[in-house]
Amino acid sequence: MVQPGTRQAGGTPMMGLMLDRHGWLKPHGQVQCRPSPNYDKRPAGVDPTLLVLHNISLPPGQFGKKHIVDFFLNRLNFNEHPWFENVRSLKVSAHFLIDREGTITQFVSTRHRAWHAGVSSFNGREKCNDFSIGIELEGTDTQPYTDEQYYALKRLTQVIRARHTLKAVRGHEHIAPGRKTDPGPAFKWRRYAREGQWLLRQLPQP
Ligand SMILES: [Zn+2]
Repeated sequence: MVQPGTRQAGGTPMMGLMLDRHGWLKPHGQVQCRPSPNYDKRPAGVDPTLLVLHNISLPPGQFGKKHIVDFFLNRLNFNEHPWFENVRSLKVSAHFLIDREGTITQFVSTRHRAWHAGVSSFNGREKCNDFSIGIELEGTDTQPYTDEQYYALKRLTQVIRARHTLKAVRGHEHIAPGRKTDPGPAFKWRRYAREGQWLLRQLPQP
């Protein structure tokens, strides 16, 4: 077991990453905060216990996170691409986005409810937004995610767990089956389970 901080002491990316008591990461080189208006309060007394993984790219298959950030801030110029008509009426967000370079952008405090899951159910409990934290990976269901993304996801999982009692992780596809397919077959659950130190029973069952 490596002591916290020692391996990062040489300036490894994301040194000192942590969630403050208000549920925000401190911005630095590979961490950006762009507060979104698309959130509200969690139900009284409900803390997040579920991590939900997604993918997004706007337009689909094209990378460069600007459009995603604009979308979550309700600033997307819908005239820039015909496909954007598909999302014109949506007001959505996630707590975090990890882009292809592994940079983390935070949009919503983990203490608040982001609007990422939609109609969903986990172990018979509906409205997963109420009790989950949503992480978007910039990508598609079929293109391999980058090593930088896995590394950032591992670090983000660690710091969320230090602040919240996470009991399970699921993909959007698992909590909204038939309606959603992300993060898709490209996501390596076994790799993430190992790197994120999840127990077998906390993972989606194949
Ligand atoms: Zn999703």
